[in-house]
Amino acid sequence: MAKLYSSETAEYIASKGIEILGGEGYMKTSLLEKMYRDAKIGTIYEGTSNILLKTIAKLILKTKISD
Ligand SMILES: Cc1cc2nc3c(=O)[nH]c(=O)nc-3n(C[C@H](O)[C@H](O)[C@H](O)COP(=O)(O)OP(=O)(O)OC[C@H]3O[C@@H](n4cnc5c(N)ncnc54)[C@H](O)[C@@H]3O)c2cc1C
Repeated sequence: MAKLYSSETAEYIASKGIEILGGEGYMKTSLLEKMYRDAKIGTIYEGTSNILLKTIAKLILKTKISD
């Protein structure tokens, strides 16, 4: 849950940073372009966000059934 929350938050914040700078933030010469890619990868490796959501849902359902 912590990994899902933190990686999605990092990606959202980096995306907003690019939005604030507009086209300049999107350019490869911008530091934010690198920051966005560094944040985006967090939602892909060590369990993609979709897979983490599925895992969390399964755990929650399992807990509820066994209660
Ligand atoms: C820079 C980088 C470094 C990496 N380093 C490592 C490393 O050190 N060690 C290592 O083992 N691996 C590493 N990886 C691999 C990484 O773990 C995989 O990229 C990641 O697991 C996603 O697998 P995939 O790229 O095959 O995407 P796919 O599995 O093809 O997924 C593509 C999309 O489909 C979705 N999806 C797939 N299956 C389902 C499903 N059943 N239900 C819902 N949605 C689904 C995913 O969420 C994703 O959005 C690295 C990748 C990158 C890009």
